[in-house]
Amino acid sequence: MSRELELKELYFGFRNPQTIKAYAKLIEEESKKLTRDVNIMEVCGGHTHTIMKYGLNQILPKNVKFIHGPGCPVCVMPKERIDHAYILAGQKDVILITLGDMIKVPGSHGSLQDARAKGADVRFVYSPADTLKIALQNPDKTVVFFAIGFETTTPMTAALIEQVIKNDIKNLLFHINHVTVPEPMRVLLDDETNKIDAFIGPAHVSVISGSKIYDEFAQKYKKPLVVSGFEPVDVIKSLYMILKQFNEKRCEVEVEYSRSVTKEGNTEAQKLNEKFFERREHFRWRGIGDISKSALKLRDEYSWLDVEAVYKDILPDQKIDDHKLCICGDILKGKANPKDCKVFGKACKPQTPLGSCMVSSEGACAAYYKYGNLL
Ligand code: SF4
Ligand code: SF4
Repeated sequence: MSRELELKELYFGFRNPQTIKAYAKLIEEESKKLTRDVNIMEVCGGHTHTIMKYGLNQILPKNVKFIHGPGCPVCVMPKERIDHAYILAGQKDVILITLGDMIKVPGSHGSLQDARAKGADVRFVYSPADTLKIALQNPDKTVVFFAIGFETTTPMTAALIEQVIKNDIKNLLFHINHVTVPEPMRVLLDDETNKIDAFIGPAHVSVISGSKIYDEFAQKYKKPLVVSGFEPVDVIKSLYMILKQFNEKRCEVEVEYSRSVTKEGNTEAQKLNEKFFERREHFRWRGIGDISKSALKLRDEYSWLDVEAVYKDILPDQKIDDHKLCICGDILKGKANPKDCKVFGKACKPQTPLGSCMVSSEGACAAYYKYGNLL
């Protein structure tokens, strides 16, 4: 059996159209018992991508709707942080390294891609560990790792920091932009105009943090939550589990993605995070605003690795607003849909993004543009 066939064997069950149809039928039956319309927010951009790619939004009954949430670390990064990366990339003998789509997000001076076109040494890596190799190969340069991501990627940055200290590497610094999931969810729910009735909880984040981080949403806010895997059968089954909770008058945190997620999560990774990071007092989320204790920074004892401390004289701290036509903020809060944006697919396309939701492959606007089924 070829490798491709073996892999197909592994995922086919999770993409099987017959299984998806069977769940759609069950959802239809549950929806008839609902006494009102239900809006279900998928927090994570990976789920938005699955919903659009497999057209799951098109097989829902009229009274059940997906709304898209703030769960893409690229989309929520405010312009001023991107400007930091741009400024750092422009310094003599600096190599600026980041992950994937971050390189394309426009800041107020341009994107990191633009900085590279002007001669800056900007590179992207698939794994933070690759940064170590670049630092070792370039001892005369200062390598800056622009670290982004939710609870998912934070342990990878922590592991990289541990390696830097262990190997006494002097030319690798960190710009930490790691954010956490429960805090923005709380902010969205505290807004009295929110339209959220239940959540599909993130997959990767929950592998690290465990499903326990969502208990307050069921207990205090009375919103059912199901942690879902990323395959279409995972998402549609999670939706069915949520509707069953409504009809059975339950309000719980359940885990559909039980092949990877436990209640406690990965405690070793949590300890590693705890060792190197502490909470920032505030962090500004693009489109949402300041959220208290929603992001991490290096602990003071590691400030010698913190590029925001080392280069503080050249890094501005003023807030920079988004393009005035961009409604990413409302999209990230689940209050608007990409098709509500006047410039969607016109002035704003993946090749010419005006806002971050059109840049990241996990962004709602990029998913709507790519899969196009609401155009
Ligand atoms: S990193 Fe994983 S869990 Fe986090 S937003 Fe992306 S896909 Fe979702
Ligand atoms: S289509 Fe572009 S401008 Fe409109 S909300 Fe999305 S990213 Fe912002």
